[in-house]
Amino acid sequence: MSSTLSTSRFFRAFVVWAFGIVGAVPASADPVDLLLVNGKIVTLDAASSVSEALAIEAGRVAAMGSAEELRKLAGPATKVIDLGGRTVIPGLIDSHIHAIRAGFRYATEVNWEGATTLAEALERLRSAAARAKPNAWLIVAGGWTPRQFAKSRRPTDAEIAAVASDHPVYIQLFYGYVLVNAAGRDWLNIKSDEDLPAGAKFERDAGGKATGWIVGNGAAIISLYSRLPKPQMVEAIGGTRQFLHELSGFGLTGVIDPGGHNLAPEDYAALFHLWREHELPLRVVYSIFAPRPGKELDDFQDTTRFLPMGTGDDWLRFNGIGECITWGMYNNETPSEADKEVFYRVARWAADQGMTVTVHWNNDRSVHHLLDVLERVNRETPIAPLRWSIAHLHDASDASLQRMKALGVGWLMQDGLYFAAPSYIAERGIAQMRRTPPIVTARGLGLAVGGGTDANRVMIENPFVSMRWMLDGRTVDGIETRGAEEIPSREDALRIYTEGSAWFAHDENRRGRLMPGMLADLAVLSDDYFTVPVSDIAKIRSLLTMVGGQIVYASGPFSGLESAHR
Ligand SMILES: [Zn+2]
Repeated sequence: MSSTLSTSRFFRAFVVWAFGIVGAVPASADPVDLLLVNGKIVTLDAASSVSEALAIEAGRVAAMGSAEELRKLAGPATKVIDLGGRTVIPGLIDSHIHAIRAGFRYATEVNWEGATTLAEALERLRSAAARAKPNAWLIVAGGWTPRQFAKSRRPTDAEIAAVASDHPVYIQLFYGYVLVNAAGRDWLNIKSDEDLPAGAKFERDAGGKATGWIVGNGAAIISLYSRLPKPQMVEAIGGTRQFLHELSGFGLTGVIDPGGHNLAPEDYAALFHLWREHELPLRVVYSIFAPRPGKELDDFQDTTRFLPMGTGDDWLRFNGIGECITWGMYNNETPSEADKEVFYRVARWAADQGMTVTVHWNNDRSVHHLLDVLERVNRETPIAPLRWSIAHLHDASDASLQRMKALGVGWLMQDGLYFAAPSYIAERGIAQMRRTPPIVTARGLGLAVGGGTDANRVMIENPFVSMRWMLDGRTVDGIETRGAEEIPSREDALRIYTEGSAWFAHDENRRGRLMPGMLADLAVLSDDYFTVPVSDIAKIRSLLTMVGGQIVYASGPFSGLESAHR
């Protein structure tokens, strides 16, 4: 048990107790708002201490210690919650999740997350069809892989027709395949390859017959998706509310959002609405994605003239630019000198504005192009105080990690290979896979590392799946990949997903740990993350999630505690 009872509040209470007037704590003693007692409260402080009880006052942790000690801080209005011995962790923070886009689309999409058979996935489509308005689109925009299904294959056109023939259907697999059914092709007026975006064509079987699936490069798939109708405002608000509520159920109390494809500036309206109505159940920190190729610097300058770095509050805050800075350096492994010059100009401008920058980069073999530019900027304007980051880079080499460390650039690491490892192994070999991602090496170098998912097109949003992946490197279809030398401890995986992620929001001294003075963001878990078998970590859920001391999610034994927000 820790006894971090150094707050003046407790000292005051202690003095009152010592002089024998504890039964008459006057109103001026300002009792705490809330006590959590009888728990296993994981603080993630420097000593890795665990506390039995925690007091909350004005949205922050007021004190930690034993229930007996902390009860002295209570007054008649103090709410007391008995945790029943359950484990409490600092609220999780996904440091790279397309939560704004996911929410915007959530009410109008069908989700295949966690379906273990194709039949189950098709059943979800059938039931969505039964609920949907006539002629409404049914869209599966990603977040699944055939490898999650027992038979490990994509659905056929005929199977989709059998469950949803009356609706236009769009099913996207990563950024490589799309199935649009007959009703959808009619709606989009697609009759042949010529009607598809450049870079896409109909897949044909050995006999030359179209399978119904469209194959294409990322740009073509993004372009195809953009032809789909957008949700109505009411759907966007409802979807955002619903998606964020699901994140609360996973114990997430914060997200860092990097914009994304198919997400226009006007699509943020639903998020802003919920913020204005004090309805956000978690803290959203967001950056903006370059809106238009060729106009990157103009667009960033225009947009941020009224949106300086850090604009917002504790619930919604602007955190700079990325993950697309310039289109010429986005998913381009062979950028020209001109591409690099354009990137340099935007990055240099951002550095001079004191702005945070996050950059999407996939492969170590080409990341030297990016690091060269970042080093050039850094020679002119030091970027270390600005919390810049590189997202993904699953195969980061020691040399790249060292260059990032020297720049003070952090690494946003996700569990993308939980789905994609088999194709990665086919391309790179198992030896490379064993050190991918190099979590322990990066932490050992003292690099800032944030946990996350990159949900919900390429990956699912469940943070416990991501943490289990950190701890066993097992893919969705059970293949063991990462070697023991790159497997962090459970505590370290949790630190990556809490204080590690908080660093990228400039918040590691306010959240990510449970200590007096920190924001009271926490989750009471269904099972003990530290003692369940690793394979069961993915099944953990939050039973009670609090953000700033407010209950934003409650279930099971805590049902009924969920209150209206602020
Ligand atoms: Zn990315």
